Amino acid sequence: MKDNLVYFTATENNESPKSVCLKLKSLFKKTGFGKIIKKGDFVAIKMHMGEEKKKPTISPLFVRVIVDLVKESGGRPFVTDTNVLYESVRENAVDHLGLAEKNGFSYQLLGCPVIIADGLVGENQLTIKTENGYVSIAGLVKRLDVIIALTHCTGHLLTGYGGAIKNIAMGLSSRGGKLDQHSDVKPEVITQDCQGCRICETYCPADAIETRPVRSPSSKGDGSPAKAGLTSNGVKDKKAFIITAKCYGCGECFAVCPHNAIKVDKWHSASDSIQKKMALYCREILRDKRSYFINFAMNITKNCDCIGEGGGAEKPLIDDIGILMSLDPVAVDTASIDLINKKAGKDIFKTAWQEIDYTIQLMETERLGVGTRRYDLVH
Ligand code: SF4
Ligand code: SF4
Repeated sequence: MKDNLVYFTATENNESPKSVCLKLKSLFKKTGFGKIIKKGDFVAIKMHMGEEKKKPTISPLFVRVIVDLVKESGGRPFVTDTNVLYESVRENAVDHLGLAEKNGFSYQLLGCPVIIADGLVGENQLTIKTENGYVSIAGLVKRLDVIIALTHCTGHLLTGYGGAIKNIAMGLSSRGGKLDQHSDVKPEVITQDCQGCRICETYCPADAIETRPVRSPSSKGDGSPAKAGLTSNGVKDKKAFIITAKCYGCGECFAVCPHNAIKVDKWHSASDSIQKKMALYCREILRDKRSYFINFAMNITKNCDCIGEGGGAEKPLIDDIGILMSLDPVAVDTASIDLINKKAGKDIFKTAWQEIDYTIQLMETERLGVGTRRYDLVH
C-alpha cells in the first residue's frame, strides 16, 4: 500500500444518503485501509459534529458506515472532537455532547460513543517539546492507536482552505494549542466602517471588545454634545475597540461583523504563521499513530463549519465533487483542492480569500515529513 495513493469516488448534489453510504463503504473496502486496525485498538474518528445553526455535511449515517467497518476490523471506534475557543455550545464537553446528540450523533445511530478529547473544559491536555518550543494537544490523543479524520473540505477565513491537516491540527489540539496556533492573528476595527452594533462584542469569547462612544466627526472640542460622544441630534456615536492584550486571535469578530469593519492586521503573515503552526501540530498529533484521512468534497462553502450564521444556509461555491481517502493528509488535501479547482475552472479558495496563500499548510506539512503533495489518484 503506497502512502501517496488517493482513492476517489464522485458524488452528485443532493445524492441520497443511502447512495453515499454505499459508495463510502465500497471505496473504503477498495483501499484496504481496514488492515491498519488491529484487534482491540482504540480508534478515534475525528470530525466536526455541526453547530446549533449549522447541520454537519458529514451525516451521522456516513459515520455509521465507518464505525461498522472499524468494528469489522476488530477496533474499538468512538467519535471525537475538542472544545473550541470561540463562543459556542462547543466550548465545554457537556453542552458539546448535547449538541452532538441533537445533530444526530447518538450512540444508537452511530453504534459507538462520542468522547470529547480534551476533557470537560479543555483541562485534559498533553504538552510536547518540539524544535520550536512546545505544542499542547488533547490529552486523549496519547492513548489512541488509530486516528481516522473525517473532514468536510471548505474555505476558511484564516487559512483560505480547511481540510484534513486543519481538522487534525486545530481539531485535536487543546485550548492552549489552539491559542498558540492563533497567536499571530491580530484583528483591528476600521473605525469609519464600524456601525457600533456590538455584534462582535457579543461574540468575543475573551471579552476583548468594547463598544464605546466616540467624538463625532463634527465635534469642535468645545463642550458641545459632540464632545461628549453625541451626534448633533443627541444620539451617541459608538465604535468597537479591540483590547489587544486580551485578544487571542480566534477570528470570531471578523467572521460575525455584518459591515466588514474588522480586518486582520498583516493578514498574509498571520495566515502564514497559523498554517505553519498547524503543520507542526499535525506532525506531533499523528506521530507514532496509524491514521487515515477521508475528505468529503461536498457542499463546499467559502466559510468553515464553525461559522453557523444565517441559519447555516451558506450557498456552496461549486457542485459536489465526491469522497477522497488516503493514508497521507497532505496528499488527500492536495488532491481535494486539485479536483475542486479543476471542476470550478479556477482556484476557488484563492478567489474567496484573496489575501491568503492556503498552499502554505500543504508545503509546510510536507516539509516536516508528514506527507507529500505528489499523489496518485485512483478513481
Ligand atoms: S466592528 Fe462590526 S460587529 Fe463590531 S460593532 Fe462595529 S459594525 Fe458592529
Ligand atoms: S479575534 Fe480577538 S477580539 Fe476578535 S473575537 Fe477573537 S478574541 Fe475577541
